[in-house]
Amino acid sequence: MFRKILIANRGEVALRIQRTCRALGVKTVVAHSEADREAKYVKLADESVCIGPAPSAGSYLNIPAIISAAEVTDAEAIHPGWGFLSESADFAERVERSGFVFIGPRAETIRLLGDKVNAKAAMKKAGIPVVPGTDGPLPEEPNEIVRLARSIGYPVIVKAAGGGGGRGMRVVHTEAALLTAVQTTRTEAMAAFGNPVLYLEKYLENPRHIEFQVLADKFRNAIHLGERDCSLQRRHQKVLEEAPALHVSERSRLRIAERCAEACRKLGYTGAGTFEFLYDKGEFHFIEINTRLQVEHPVTELVTGLDIVQLQVRVAAGEKLGIRQRDVQFRGHAIECRINAEDPFRGIPSPGRITSFHAPGGPGIRVDSHAYSGYFVPPHYDSLIGKLIAYGDTREQAIARMNIALSEMVVEGIRTNIPLHQELLQDAAFLRGGASIHYLEQKFAKLAKAE
Ligand code: ADP
Repeated sequence: MFRKILIANRGEVALRIQRTCRALGVKTVVAHSEADREAKYVKLADESVCIGPAPSAGSYLNIPAIISAAEVTDAEAIHPGWGFLSESADFAERVERSGFVFIGPRAETIRLLGDKVNAKAAMKKAGIPVVPGTDGPLPEEPNEIVRLARSIGYPVIVKAAGGGGGRGMRVVHTEAALLTAVQTTRTEAMAAFGNPVLYLEKYLENPRHIEFQVLADKFRNAIHLGERDCSLQRRHQKVLEEAPALHVSERSRLRIAERCAEACRKLGYTGAGTFEFLYDKGEFHFIEINTRLQVEHPVTELVTGLDIVQLQVRVAAGEKLGIRQRDVQFRGHAIECRINAEDPFRGIPSPGRITSFHAPGGPGIRVDSHAYSGYFVPPHYDSLIGKLIAYGDTREQAIARMNIALSEMVVEGIRTNIPLHQELLQDAAFLRGGASIHYLEQKFAKLAKAE
């Protein structure tokens, strides 16, 4: 096991990683920006290094500063968390070349799977169903583009191979709009990702977002930890997630999950990863892989009883997984509400000083949060201030516990989306389960109008 790990991230995930490291007896170094100097998790770490100013370009995205922080503190491995550099193949490569272990897949795997055209091709080859669309990059020739879109059938979605974070895609409903949309997306993709490669997919009108958690070691052992339903999203940002996914037969969920694990073995994938699918009319369609830990990993931890971060660290240290697929037991139901510092119905960020903070508790309640009374939510980063996760033997019990937890939670001084979650937990479509990825957006529109 490592002696010391540097955490190249902030906020909730920096604390989450630190907790697992402490339980493993591994020392931690937190690399932080000037804006996060006073945070409690920075003080709790064994060591901390200020790597730059508040804007992330100079700190959390500053590769040389992070590497030198690892050098001066004599850390052995670097955990990238999520967001920031977690899916940067260049970062993973620089970390390894500087003599540290990158806690994640190999740089070449991140590079392959970070290109969505390549990722789709690799999945197809591994027997995973993908969204119908072009095989490979979209050609330049206009007639050829028109022909391809016709063969897929409208509506189609133009997507950038290098896209991410919900950017670099455009829905096209008619042939008349196609070529302009392709041109605009290409220009945007070049500017935003430095990669003009595009592809076309069938636009699925009312899908759900269901994703599968995998874990793999360096010896080609790979397991899956089942799925999460993350359909409740706003502007492509997940708001509430749960496991297991309702109204999908166990047989079809397990079939896809097994194929994801098998794809990991074939690709020589290592570490934690998530295969994202759109689920439409009873079929799964692969869209992309996230080669990192995800925000919503706790729901999987609660239904499997496993510590995903611990397993991630162990396999990075060269240990064997030590868990076979048949050892993974799924039990009960878990729901996660992301608590954001924002106006609940309009989604406008609300940074500032938290004057009073009280975390809920009780049976089946987990709170992952770096916030506390007196904590200042900096305006420079995303608005996630924590997550409430409720577990129950049944979904009904998890929902009941979450309702109590939301009513107990106090966050004063800033606005949060707690009222939105309370509203959502009473919503008939949510209670039925199986809402599509557009459901929450439509509900937001109605709530904002009514306010
Ligand atoms: P990103 O890496 O930017 O998150 P994804 O490929 O994961 O991009 O897509 C993000 C979201 O866009 C999906 O969760 C879904 O809401 C929507 N989307 C992507 N592809 C399609 C499609 N073919 N049909 C319908 N919606 C899609």
